[in-house]
Amino acid sequence: MTKSRIYLSSPHMGGLEQQFVKEAFDTNWVSSLGANMDNFEADLQKYTGAGHITLLGSGTAAIHLSLIMLGVKAGDVVICQSFTFAATANPITYQGATPVFVDSEPGTWNMDPMALEQAISACMKGQVTGKPVKPKAIIPVHLYGMPAKMEEILRIANQYALPVVEDAAEALGSSINGKRCGTFGKLGILSFNGNKIITTSGGGALLSDEKALVDRAHFLATQARDNAPHYQHTNIGYNYRMSNVVAGIGRGQLMVLDKHMGIRRRNYERYREYFASIASRGYTVEFQGEGLEGYFSNRWLTAIIIDPSKNKGVTREDLRLALDAENIESRPLWKPMHLQPVFSQAPYFGSGLSEKLFNDGLCLPSGSNMTEEDWTRIIAVLDKVFV
Ligand SMILES: *Cc1c(COP(=O)(O)O)cnc(C)c1O
Repeated sequence: MTKSRIYLSSPHMGGLEQQFVKEAFDTNWVSSLGANMDNFEADLQKYTGAGHITLLGSGTAAIHLSLIMLGVKAGDVVICQSFTFAATANPITYQGATPVFVDSEPGTWNMDPMALEQAISACMKGQVTGKPVKPKAIIPVHLYGMPAKMEEILRIANQYALPVVEDAAEALGSSINGKRCGTFGKLGILSFNGNKIITTSGGGALLSDEKALVDRAHFLATQARDNAPHYQHTNIGYNYRMSNVVAGIGRGQLMVLDKHMGIRRRNYERYREYFASIASRGYTVEFQGEGLEGYFSNRWLTAIIIDPSKNKGVTREDLRLALDAENIESRPLWKPMHLQPVFSQAPYFGSGLSEKLFNDGLCLPSGSNMTEEDWTRIIAVLDKVFV
């Protein structure tokens, strides 16, 4: 008998999603306008505390629009966290600009403020592109829900008068001293892709305290139609808006976000308790962002580091393969962008931490819909690997 697959993170519906979707059908608002769009936007705004929000087709589209609005174009430079998913960096390339990748720091595993400052300074001195350039934007990421060191990143950004686009795709619900991720930068983005903490099947949002920017994003996302009875365009537009049908899923999902976040945070605690309980066996597994005061992670995914030199030679691949043999999904941490073949020519600043995190790191099953039976199967594998 094959055991059912335990996923890293799978969609977890709350129950009311279908009712909101049905309302869209019942009222025939199945396109881009309607009550689900208005309400999901308002609910999200209330939840995050963002000044203004517009709903989009994806988080990637939100990053792309952010860069367009900041005037990023061919020949420009944008500073981006290296340790992330490719969707953070790809829109820089859509605009013909050059990404400059910045390494992570050990506390949060996110953008290292010191390496950021080195990168900016090198750009300004002409050491990156051959002539002095001022970067057009900085993109930090809150990986796996862990907030980046926003206070220091913003201090540096403000010192050089550079706008921050905050990639909070994985961090809905996370906060620093009570302020939600996605609301720190000039612009912030969220994702509602299938494996994120809440999903609309696919979707995203752009957040800002500046109304003009969010209005502009909405305009560009809906084909940039001028105010005229006929179709008139003075700008290049995009078809990047969310639909009222999937916004209904988002409304239902947002209602259970805090509950599901509580379960994911509990998952993280359970893994920690497990590894604390086997410390006497001589293993030392490290967790992301332990003991940072004021930093609240939604713990979208529990991520660990298995340094073989501290774990009797056990590697993260040993654990990944052992889990896979029991039909349990786990995944290496993001491969840094500066090590990706597609970005091999891009400049990079840092000490190599993200490469080490990639080599030794693993994301463990972290869904809010995991059962006690799932846990029993996972712990059985852990006990086999960490004997
Ligand atoms: C998922 C994700 C994105 C992209 O979001 P989509 O909605 O899938 O386009 C961007 N950045 C990070 C860090 C992500 O995890």
